[in-house]
Amino acid sequence: MRIEQDLKLGFKDVLFRPKRSNLKSRSQVELTREFTFKHSGRQWSGVPVIAANMDSVGSFAMAKALAENGCMTAVHKHYTVEDWAAFVAESDAQVLNNVMVSTGTSEADFEKTQKIMAMSDELIFICIDIANGYSEHLVEYVERVRAEFPDKVISAGNVVTGDMVEELILAGADIVKVGIGPGSVCTTRVKTGVGYPQLSAIIECADAAHGLGGRIIGDGGCSCAGDVAKAFGGGADFVMLGGMLAGHEESGGEVVEQDGKQFMKFYGMSSQSAMDKHSGGVAKYRAAEGKTVMLPFRGSVHNTIADILGGVRSTCTYVGAAQLKELTKRTTFIRVQEQENNVFGKE
Ligand code: 5GP
Repeated sequence: MRIEQDLKLGFKDVLFRPKRSNLKSRSQVELTREFTFKHSGRQWSGVPVIAANMDSVGSFAMAKALAENGCMTAVHKHYTVEDWAAFVAESDAQVLNNVMVSTGTSEADFEKTQKIMAMSDELIFICIDIANGYSEHLVEYVERVRAEFPDKVISAGNVVTGDMVEELILAGADIVKVGIGPGSVCTTRVKTGVGYPQLSAIIECADAAHGLGGRIIGDGGCSCAGDVAKAFGGGADFVMLGGMLAGHEESGGEVVEQDGKQFMKFYGMSSQSAMDKHSGGVAKYRAAEGKTVMLPFRGSVHNTIADILGGVRSTCTYVGAAQLKELTKRTTFIRVQEQENNVFGKE
């Protein structure tokens, strides 16, 4: 047994130190980024915020709405091949370029991914997603997907340490997804005791990935626009959001009325709800590692995304970053013991 004494930080442990800036207005801040990916050589330009591949977030409707804002959606893996065919047929290139096709690592997943990717050259992102990215099986699967799709952008995860980021990039991933345990409906830390504070995971994994020309997605744990900015400030190239984009018209959940108020169900992809829906219940050998919550229905996602991007733009003006790309270089985090003042309740 070993104990690491290095301090690891979450979003709630830091704030940005303001810096002198010659930016007069948030409107001067450019959030669009351009990436050329390591293995595929693909170029992509857009706002690097991604809706999570959860079936009450990453829907086709979300993909259309976020593409209008230049953002991405990792579409969840529970749509059928026929659903995809209909979606691809009715979508223009801008939507498909901003979509990630999610997949697990089984043989059936591989065949389904082949069928979906064959539908359009405009589909360029594949998101290989398993809860425990430390499995050797994932590395082999990434190698196989890279061989099959040499010119597609491959994301793989989830991991939280630099060693595994390097291994996945060397196996063929262009992007590594980072986050174990921080999610809003995740109970992994409670059920297993495993995890890593998300801001430190991002900082360390970004360093490892960038050293090899790879990219990372900071996935999970953002509860407000300030957290999204902190993830970018820590070095995340992309930030993935579940809970912050759940509960909207476009999220794909069912609206229910309780006492005259509208709610939408939101659940972890390893929750009892998800396993009942997609796998015929929780298998005997495992525990659910996600929870189910009812969120107040929040209407269209356009307002929420404008609020998030407005917050990140404002962060950039406080630290003097004219482009999102510069944010991490302009970032000094200060460790804090307090965040917002809640004397009149939470925002
Ligand atoms: P959020 O933005 O809601 O804090 O986090 C979203 C992320 O939580 C997802 O992208 C995914 O990585 C993770 N997640 C989603 N469902 C589950 C689950 O049931 N269990 C765990 N451990 N993580 C989940």
